[in-house]
Amino acid sequence: MTKFADLNLDPKVLKAVEEAGYETPTPIQAGAIPPALQGRDVLGIAQTGTGKTASFTLPMITLLAKGRARARMPRSLVLAPTRELAAQVAENFDVYAKHTKLTKALLIGGVSFKEQDLLIDRGVDVLIATPGRLLDHFERGKLLLTGVQIMVVDEADRMLDMGFIPDIEKIFQLTPFTRQTLFFSATMAPEIERITNTFLSAPEKIEVARAATTSETIAQNLVLFRPSRRDRAATEKRALLRALIDAEGTECKNAIIFCNRKVDVDVVAKSLKKYGYDAAPIHGDLEQSQRMKTLDGFRDGSLRFLVASDVAARGLDIPAVSHVFNFDVPSHSEDYVHRIGRTGRAGRKGRALTICAPSDEKYLDAIEKLVQQAIPRMDPPGGQPAPAAEPAEAEGEARPKRERRPRRARTEPNEPVAETPAAVEPVVAEAASAPEPDRSARDERRPRRDRRDDRGPKIVGMGDHVPTFIAKSFEERIAS
Ligand code: AMP
Repeated sequence: MTKFADLNLDPKVLKAVEEAGYETPTPIQAGAIPPALQGRDVLGIAQTGTGKTASFTLPMITLLAKGRARARMPRSLVLAPTRELAAQVAENFDVYAKHTKLTKALLIGGVSFKEQDLLIDRGVDVLIATPGRLLDHFERGKLLLTGVQIMVVDEADRMLDMGFIPDIEKIFQLTPFTRQTLFFSATMAPEIERITNTFLSAPEKIEVARAATTSETIAQNLVLFRPSRRDRAATEKRALLRALIDAEGTECKNAIIFCNRKVDVDVVAKSLKKYGYDAAPIHGDLEQSQRMKTLDGFRDGSLRFLVASDVAARGLDIPAVSHVFNFDVPSHSEDYVHRIGRTGRAGRKGRALTICAPSDEKYLDAIEKLVQQAIPRMDPPGGQPAPAAEPAEAEGEARPKRERRPRRARTEPNEPVAETPAAVEPVVAEAASAPEPDRSARDERRPRRDRRDDRGPKIVGMGDHVPTFIAKSFEERIAS
């Protein structure tokens, strides 16, 4: 087995690695470090949790140990898709470079330009940045990229998802042709392949096993959620989340709650807080300082529930999470593996609970195919949620202006509600008791006219009865 000592790393780096407590290099480290130290381009196909950050940081520090930074001309550049990831790389750099004199700057949104300009002016060895912020600095004329000897692109597939590929291409073109490139992506989408073919030169390709399987230490369950009414779905789903959390009791020490949309991240966090749960949101639209504060709180245990979007949570290294709740089934099946991989780390036991609404079922199929197992179903604690009594306004959510009343109930109070148009259309289609939702939905969506057949004489247009005063005028005309 390869040892760190066999990898030709600078002794100062080795010392830091030892102090970090790492005994053996991970496969991506063993594969990427030797070619990187030889100055070769590297294409690493690996995802977060594989130790990939050290696989580029350690050789970078070793290679940069000789030489000095010049004002406004960083010697190396690391691009990461989100502020958190960039900040995480910077933290890693601090750990591994602590015995060297190398300097770094972190260029991310939410931090004042002035502070960052000062650092760049002084000259830095390593510049860690998100693509947009880097280009902002460049366009303000505060930065020269012609001194970049090593360029790292981290999480390229996320860059693609976030629309950063044009920025990445531009940055590649601003750096010298002779630079060394270390490029990492969890997947090789055609667009990523095109970029690597264009900008990497005979790279050493290292692929480490993809996390298409979920850890056996994670106990997973899925709850099929069936709202009692469509206009209550959001409220009832949040009530179900609370019920799930409560049912886990003291086992649930802390949790990440994933939502598919940023707007739900906010609403769910606010709702949990309102109900006395210690929760805070994290997503890309929040102030950087607030995001950092929230993350720090979650890491040090002072915050129990982190409500997150996939992008914000991607790649974040948060140890010891007892639970993951998927408020929504993720639409990308791989995100399921990433999300639940937040719990059950390093052999610890973990728990992952997913809420699946009827509209999520198409995603569920893809996930179960990917992980090659059915996620065990479980009943919602206490049955399907009873309509919650939470006031909708308090959560910033518009209460339906007027509840749809059964149309015929007003005139025929004894009519069974289920047969009234308002109840028939959307709600029965989603009702828990419907054994085959598709068919029942189709049946219930028969044209309204057919439904009325059961209820009495067929009425067409104004009705079968034509008032005499109307018929009279026609009769007179016909006669004349
Ligand atoms: P990454 O994939 O870079 O996000 O790393 C995931 C986690 O693995 C981080 O907490 C690192 O500190 C840790 N790590 C990186 N390399 C090693 C190693 N060789 N041995 C043990 N842990 C490591």
